[in-house]
Amino acid sequence: MHRPRPSYFFRLARGFSAPSRSFVATRHVGNAMANLVDAAKAADIASKPELSINPELPQKVSFTNSSDNGAECTLDVQGEAGVELYRDAMTLSSETTGRRSFPYHYLRDLCRCPKCVDPHSKQRSFRTSDIPKDIAPRHVKWDGERLEVQWSQDIPEYPDSHTSSWDYQYLKRPFINTHAIKTKSTYPLRWGSVWMQRRQHWISYQDYMENDVKFAAAMRNLSRMGLIFVKNIPESREMVEKLATRMGPLRNSFYGPTWDVRTVPEAKNVAYTNQFLGFHMDLMYMNEPPGYQLLHCLENSCEGGESLFADAFRAADIMSYEHPRDFQTLTRHQLGYEYIHDDQIYYNHWPVFDYDRKINSMRRVNYSPPFQSPLPPYSNGEHTHSGFVALKRALTNFTRLLESDLSVFELKLNPGECAIFANRRVVHARRQFNMTGGSRWLAGAYVDEDALLSRFAVCQKKHPITWRAADPMADIHSHRSQKANAAQAEKTVEVESVDAQPL
Ligand SMILES: [Zn+2]
Repeated sequence: MHRPRPSYFFRLARGFSAPSRSFVATRHVGNAMANLVDAAKAADIASKPELSINPELPQKVSFTNSSDNGAECTLDVQGEAGVELYRDAMTLSSETTGRRSFPYHYLRDLCRCPKCVDPHSKQRSFRTSDIPKDIAPRHVKWDGERLEVQWSQDIPEYPDSHTSSWDYQYLKRPFINTHAIKTKSTYPLRWGSVWMQRRQHWISYQDYMENDVKFAAAMRNLSRMGLIFVKNIPESREMVEKLATRMGPLRNSFYGPTWDVRTVPEAKNVAYTNQFLGFHMDLMYMNEPPGYQLLHCLENSCEGGESLFADAFRAADIMSYEHPRDFQTLTRHQLGYEYIHDDQIYYNHWPVFDYDRKINSMRRVNYSPPFQSPLPPYSNGEHTHSGFVALKRALTNFTRLLESDLSVFELKLNPGECAIFANRRVVHARRQFNMTGGSRWLAGAYVDEDALLSRFAVCQKKHPITWRAADPMADIHSHRSQKANAAQAEKTVEVESVDAQPL
């Protein structure tokens, strides 16, 4: 294995009157080099004598650009901040920011000035492909917090005065990836029945609709646990749409923009009968099943008809260490789902676990036995007995885990209450009910995952303190530290038992 050879380059800093301070040779070995873009080239250029300093302020630096032409740049570097210019990239440093390298092409592409990004439409007015290949800085101003760059060889229609500028905080994290699932603050927290029985999140309709802070707290819970409840909803069929559109646009389907679950004779769908409806997710036969579902209860005077929920991510986690072979089976073998009637023919297939091996995380679970189609063929186009046995064993284990007392959260929705849940994570079911003794009517709606990811990000941005405080994880931490304090007082080691609680 090769060890990277140490290399040397010069750091340009303020205070050129004393030559001994103006040139600081810095030694970089091993991983430190990973921060530098094209580090070998950078070191190569920096060690060449082309790098020259004009002692007049602002400092003028000559360097070789990407076309191997000589380029000149003036520097205005303040305080303890430092800038290093290389053929293709600059490295910024300061006491607070540390060192970080930025390629010129990347920085030019990142310009957010009003000419580059329309302030109203927020649309970009240039294409990445428009950036000339030998673009380089003509003037750089850096004070450790804010960077300003003027360009030579800019995109042709740009004036010389075009200045790109950024706060370092923005440079560090220029976009919010709403799809990131492995960050500390977005990771779905697994819950079991004990947790949900104790801490299910409720919000009143009025707070949900009118109080932005309490709404943000509810969204925080929904983002982490995938299940919340709204209460005190006015008695109206219109309400489910109001609840849904507070989060995002309604997701339409052949059931309509909103739909009703009422018992009807000769129902096409088992949801419209009074039979037991086992754990499932909705619209798995579609290419883009809805990310979130609302069920608003308008009538529920029948005997029975309780709603059941379970966290399929938690069941999958348990499977991954209790039955790793079965877990693998469900990440590989696909199940098909279909909805076939006179005017609709829908079909799709998925593995039960959409597991991202690169980040070792569950993205989605796809599970809906009531709509399962004939089994799609395996990779070689044939079904085998052993393949079927393996699949059946894995599904049996998964079902057992989902339906275990430690998983299932059960409640009977009352009129004026609504469940909101993540359709691709939390499975839902309904107990059988007796139609003779009363009526049962739920109004439902869907909202796409993208809309909710956006809503979560907006809530986090507008209410950062609430977003942190309402995080169920914060609750767990404080619960743990209380327990820890109590345990300390009693000189016991009981703290660990909190971890054993299903979550
Ligand atoms: Zn610009």
